[in-house]
Amino acid sequence: MRADLHIHTVASDGTWTPEEVVARVHAAGIGLFAVADHDTLEGALAVADIVRRTPGAPSFLPAVEISTALNGALVHILGYRVHPDHPSLNDLLRANRARLEWVNEETLRRMVQAGYPVDLEAYAVYENDPRRGGWKGLNFLIDSGLCRDVRDFFERIFVDPVRPPMPDFPHPAEAVARIREAGGVPILAHPGGSFRHRPIEEVLETFVEFGIAGVECYTPYHSPETTARCRAFCVRHNLLVTGGSDCHGEFVGRPLGVPLVTVDDLRLGPLGAD
Ligand SMILES: [Zn+2]
Ligand SMILES: [Zn+2]
Repeated sequence: MRADLHIHTVASDGTWTPEEVVARVHAAGIGLFAVADHDTLEGALAVADIVRRTPGAPSFLPAVEISTALNGALVHILGYRVHPDHPSLNDLLRANRARLEWVNEETLRRMVQAGYPVDLEAYAVYENDPRRGGWKGLNFLIDSGLCRDVRDFFERIFVDPVRPPMPDFPHPAEAVARIREAGGVPILAHPGGSFRHRPIEEVLETFVEFGIAGVECYTPYHSPETTARCRAFCVRHNLLVTGGSDCHGEFVGRPLGVPLVTVDDLRLGPLGAD
């Protein structure tokens, strides 16, 4: 059975509605899937509801991808099967969404300082269409004619002196603790994508100390060699092994179900039990 445990919806920066995600997963022949939007459970809850009402729907794991910061670098921690109403987790998610919006606004303010003709008043009343994917600040800049697309944004605009400092996202260990408090399973997302300049085993040792239960070994960010090294580390340390496409629908072009992973490739532990 094929699995894809990392998919985004319109609730964060993907282009697919919850209904579309379920339909696409079904059509792709994926039997187990998870929605993991950035700092919100809204998409995962909507998908859970659809799956419950749809006979023959694929098996589903609700999840969230939490923004954290370690030594000034952004690190994503996945939380699977968290209790959606847990107060301390929701406090953290709410604070992170505010931090993400601060990045939007601070980027635009710094663009004004750098001489770009950004209309901050227009931004204040701008209505973002989530079906386009991406985020409000990005789509506003595209509609203002100041940016071509997400690639142009990161290559030309979101660099010195416009790029704001990293907001005060929680430490990864704090996100891990909140996920566990909410009854969930904390997994380090795409470590090879977040840490390109350190031996991957050294990175994983650090996150074992932070309390992760497993590692997203199968991801488009990893070469086959990085996947194999992550997997071997997980087997040695008795950690869970997950995998997913990090598909955002039509946004950023990571296709659903890639890399191709089956449940047998993974070590799902408590996540595998229905
Ligand atoms: Zn991520
Ligand atoms: Zn993601």
